[in-house]
Amino acid sequence: MSRTSGSAPLLTATALHKSFGDNEVLRGIDLTLHRGEVVVLIGPSGSGKTTVLRSLNGLETPDGGSIEVDGGPEIDFSGRVPQRQRFALRDRSAMVFQHHNLFPHLTVLENVIEGPWRVQGRPKDEVVAEAHGLLARVGLGDRADARPHELSGGQQQRVGIVRALALRPDLLLFDEPTSALDPELVGEVLLVIKELADEGWSMVVVTHELSFAREAADHVLFMDAGVVVEEGSPAQVFGAPREERTQRFLTRILRPLDGD
Ligand code: ADP
Ligand code: MG
Repeated sequence: MSRTSGSAPLLTATALHKSFGDNEVLRGIDLTLHRGEVVVLIGPSGSGKTTVLRSLNGLETPDGGSIEVDGGPEIDFSGRVPQRQRFALRDRSAMVFQHHNLFPHLTVLENVIEGPWRVQGRPKDEVVAEAHGLLARVGLGDRADARPHELSGGQQQRVGIVRALALRPDLLLFDEPTSALDPELVGEVLLVIKELADEGWSMVVVTHELSFAREAADHVLFMDAGVVVEEGSPAQVFGAPREERTQRFLTRILRPLDGD
């Protein structure tokens, strides 16, 4: 039994479509996330994973389909979407990118408080206190005054995660958060994400880190060419994939030197 069975979903995306010119990138994507759940999205480069996350975060506007976040209105992309609805969607989630894109001229603390203080307009004292707490939690309590270039790549990604948490989102979206890191720095970032999952954060994670996915995911979606080819529990999708395309992808990322 899933720990979340029975409750209404936190997020429901239905039949998402998106084209860039002639390139139909999303061809009907359905994704459901319950509160406290971790959904892992895997799939080859160009399959549309980032476009799904950007759509969930209101950074991209799909051409069709709908997204509903718990308590909010259903946003129907087949019609004109009011700006206020897109902004509402953006406020519900926070994204952690492949590259941290911290502001280089700001300190770690300034980077973290920028969103909650300047954009959300929360009281600065409160935001600063919360930021210090969050930095301490990811092992960066003593780096608040450092600039991003003084940190390792793994530390920078941890700041990126803190920056997302500081927005107090309902859900976290991770887009290949460790793929730009040197191998020895991957573990410390995955550990933080795993801890957040264990604490009950709701998240969608795009990653090729299969051992992390096996441990952390409640549900796995395999995407290829804009469709969900296969989905299920990590044990099913990784251990006994039904679809030939899934098998081929998994073989390729597990043994990258063998080719096809
Ligand atoms: P993935 O994250 O799985 O690698 P993406 O969602 O980034 O895939 O991209 C899917 C496809 O959409 C790719 O062919 C990519 O070139 C195209 N694409 C993504 N964003 C844009 C954009 N802003 N303009 C034009 N094409 C885009
Ligand atoms: Mg991507």
